[in-house]
Amino acid sequence: LTTGLESAWNKLKGEEVLTKDNIAEPMRDIRRALLEADVSLPVVRRFVQSVSDQAVGVGVVRGVKPDQQLVKIVYDELIKLMGGEVSELTFAKSGPTVILLAGLQGVGKTTVCAKLASYFKKQGKSCMLVAGDVYRPAAIDQLTILGKQVNVPVYTAGTDVKPSDIAKQGFEEAKKKNIDVVIVDTAGRLQIDKAMMDELKDVKRVLNPTEVLLVVDAMTGQEAAALVTTFNLEIGITGAILTKLDGDSRGGAALSVKEVSGKPIKLVGRGERMEDLEPFYPDRMAGRILGMGDVLSFVEKMQQEEAEDLQKKIMSAKFDFNDFLKQTRTVAKMGSVSRVIGMIPGMAKVTPAQIREAEKNLQNMEVIIEAMTPEEREKPELLAESPIKRKRVAKDSGKTEQQVSQLIAQLFQMRVRMKKLMGVMEGGSLPTLSN
Ligand code: GDP
Ligand code: MG
Repeated sequence: LTTGLESAWNKLKGEEVLTKDNIAEPMRDIRRALLEADVSLPVVRRFVQSVSDQAVGVGVVRGVKPDQQLVKIVYDELIKLMGGEVSELTFAKSGPTVILLAGLQGVGKTTVCAKLASYFKKQGKSCMLVAGDVYRPAAIDQLTILGKQVNVPVYTAGTDVKPSDIAKQGFEEAKKKNIDVVIVDTAGRLQIDKAMMDELKDVKRVLNPTEVLLVVDAMTGQEAAALVTTFNLEIGITGAILTKLDGDSRGGAALSVKEVSGKPIKLVGRGERMEDLEPFYPDRMAGRILGMGDVLSFVEKMQQEEAEDLQKKIMSAKFDFNDFLKQTRTVAKMGSVSRVIGMIPGMAKVTPAQIREAEKNLQNMEVIIEAMTPEEREKPELLAESPIKRKRVAKDSGKTEQQVSQLIAQLFQMRVRMKKLMGVMEGGSLPTLSN
């Protein structure tokens, strides 16, 4: 999507006012890019029309490039298309909040149960999972294992009890134990069928859930919007959770769901790990679609991983090799390096070869840092000042002196870059290594 839009912007450079003529070609590119991202045709039509209507006649503000002007309109319109604001989850006024999850087989419902529990636990809420998928014993085991992993109780009643009865029993149990949030897993099928819908209606009737969330796989593209619509008409839902946004989904699902179904995407899943669930931010998604780089998500992830004091250290230029190591490990934990690099603006275009290189570099870095003394890790200046110390580190790590010097330089560069990323725009100077 990004490449298509980029060529659209380039065509506008140098114009003063946006006219029907000069936006025609970029709009065609935008249309194509959206269709390629698997956004449904009616949505694309309405979107293009709305952007064109707003753009024509808009004078290009001094200091702003025409392409930026159009980007701004497209950006705002994308945010609107996706529902504008973050759509928060609702909580029950009294008694446990009940979240019922629905969706086809394999979309990530059971995973979402545990991810949600982990998400709520971080907010200080107690949770209980209820195993309402009774058709496969393996589904109950899976939920039990995930529950253990995130350390929340799982209510099970085997495979012989009706899902609506399990749900009711689970709810009563949670109420007795003063649990804040009850999350109910259900069975999915490969396709929508009457039995699944009837079962969900049953469970919904006895539970009276606070939230009924349809879990949809982002890879299904525009099909996702149709599913949300159908489930909403059939059982009545409060929103959707879009999973597997980490795959090579083309984004169409995220764009169409709200517009087509009227129901918001409330959360998105970006991976298989328990931490990979976050609120759906229309503005960030719009930014990502336009290739602006998802700095906010990046910064937030950093913050989650004990970055608050990391940030302080960066600000005060005390960011040392221990932090460096912690951070590179965090980055590795966050998933592939490529994913993170893709979120940093200006670094969006990396080739697979570059990614492999980056991953190899990470390993080299660890070996070098491990060869440093604790004091050297805390005070990188010591190494910057002493060729002898650098030589020793090189020897102990089995790397070249040049590699060691590079890593030290990189740490100082990182201090400067991180400062900038955190919004402190002052330059900062790089020390040169003494010989
Ligand atoms: P269910 O049948 O709807 O309960 O789906 P599961 O929760 O069992 O998930 C099916 C598969 O999708 C599992 O292998 C999960 O690990 C995987 N999965 C779930 N969510 C995500 C996600 O956000 N990203 C990726 N890459 N995989 C996911
Ligand atoms: Mg399941």
